[in-house]
Order: sequence, then structure tokens, then C-alpha cells
Amino acid sequence: MNTKICKYKNNAKSAFSFVFDDGCYGESTEWTYEIFKGIFEKTGIKFKATSAQTVSFISPNMKKIWDKLFDEGYYDYCAHSITHCICYCKNTPVEEMHKDARETQIKLAQMYGSKPLTYATPGGGSDEFGWSILKNYYIANRNGNDKINIPGEIDWFNIGTFTAMLKRTTEEYTANIDEIIEKGGWSVQVNHWITKKEEDKFHSQSYDTFVKECDYLAEKAVSKDVWVCSMNEAVLYLQEAESSSLTIKDGEKGTEVTLVCPLDKEIYNYPLTVEIDGKLYDIKPNETIVV
Ligand SMILES: [Zn+2]
Repeated sequence: MNTKICKYKNNAKSAFSFVFDDGCYGESTEWTYEIFKGIFEKTGIKFKATSAQTVSFISPNMKKIWDKLFDEGYYDYCAHSITHCICYCKNTPVEEMHKDARETQIKLAQMYGSKPLTYATPGGGSDEFGWSILKNYYIANRNGNDKINIPGEIDWFNIGTFTAMLKRTTEEYTANIDEIIEKGGWSVQVNHWITKKEEDKFHSQSYDTFVKECDYLAEKAVSKDVWVCSMNEAVLYLQEAESSSLTIKDGEKGTEVTLVCPLDKEIYNYPLTVEIDGKLYDIKPNETIVV
């Protein structure tokens, strides 16, 4: 029997995640929702992006919008500090970093009813010392360095990124997607907002290049070249795949295949795609299927 745990969900060749930072760009958020919804209606592919949420930036009205988007499955969220004014680095007092990491987690859990699993350090300059503090509270951290993440070699508290910018052309966005397909990598695209004007404050992406990029991604998702997923989904999938193994034994009703995963059951419950004699199955950690 030929079995393997697929590198990405549905045996896709690569993975791509959008992360929208800060959580306070109202109109842009509505547009991304409309674009994602349109793609789902046209192709059946559901994009799920991650919103990096800065607690003090979320107004009651903004929270209402996020509640809806999380509920409909077009977004999930990660932590992005309480005030955005913190550097996770050796120059910041240790207690200040612990306080931010802890309180961001508590406050977001109170707001949305579930604990954020991952963090995205705000601004630049975070370092290994700062990431070691985050490790006490989160399972991964997105950092700002420009690189494609390769499974098996990922530094989980220094996840690489591709930054959206107004000056970038559609070709630059699609070239990044082509590169992850070729390398079998995972790209995390950092966005702040999309705009119909020519403003580049905090790195915006033009509405038009975003629409074209999403169409290209959807096409590549249909052909199973890319798994478009949230950052949280990719982190869970890849960390589970890194540490899990399959056990196979003969049972009364057929061959029993178990996905053995040693990680914390409370957190790691994302199904992995397993290929068994050419067929794909989604199996949850520590679940047994009969084939
Ligand atoms: Zn930010």
C-alpha cells in the first residue's frame, strides 16, 4: 500500500495566504469580501484571509463587520498587539512584551470567543529575543522578511512574507504565485488595504491588481497548483504534517490507517490530506479511517 501525508491540503503544489494588517480599513475590507464572495460564486473556491488585529484599532462598528466575515468563513484572525506601539526585541522590557502578548490574546478571545493562535509582530525590528517571548503564548509569528516559506525549513516565529505595494504590477503578484508553485513553497502576502485611488500610505494595493491577482489565484486553486488558505490554516497544516506519521494495520473491515499526531489536541485538529494508493482522504489528527 502506497501512503503519504500530502505536503498541502488536497495535494496542492503550493500554498498562499493573504494577511490584512491592523484591522481598521473599513471600505477596503468590504471590497475584499465582495471579491472573495464573487470568486466563490464563480469557481466554488473559498478564499480565507487572515486579519491581523490590533485590539485598540477595532471600533464597535468594525467589530460588527469582522464578526460577519469570520462567521461566513472569508477571514479568520491573528494577534497584532494591543496598541501597535511595541517592538518584540531585546531593547523592550521583558515584562512589557509578556503583558502585550498575554493581553492581546485575552482581549481578542473576549471579543471573538476564541483564542488567537498566531501573532504578527507590528512594525519592523523584532528579533529572536522577542520571538522567544511570543513562543509562550502563540504557535507561530509572522515577521516582515521577504521570503517564500519552504515546508521543513520554516522558522515558525519568523515566517517570511511578500509585501503588497501600490507600485507593484499585476505581473509581480502573479510572478510570486508562479514561484511558489515552482518551488513548492508557501507565500504569506502582507496587505494593509486595497484602494481605488493613488495613495500608498502604509503600503496599499490597487483594487485592480488585487482583483487580477485573486482571479489568477482562483485559476491556480482550481487546477490544484495552489491551496489558498488563511495563515492559521497553513500553520496548523504544516506543523501537523511536520510531526505526524501514519500507522497502517489490518482490521476486521479492511486496512486501518491512523494519522498519529503528537501535538496538543486542543489546538491541532486540522485535517491533513493523505494519499492512499492514489486516492485522497482528509484525516484529522489521531483519527483512524478504514480503506
Ligand atoms: Zn500593523
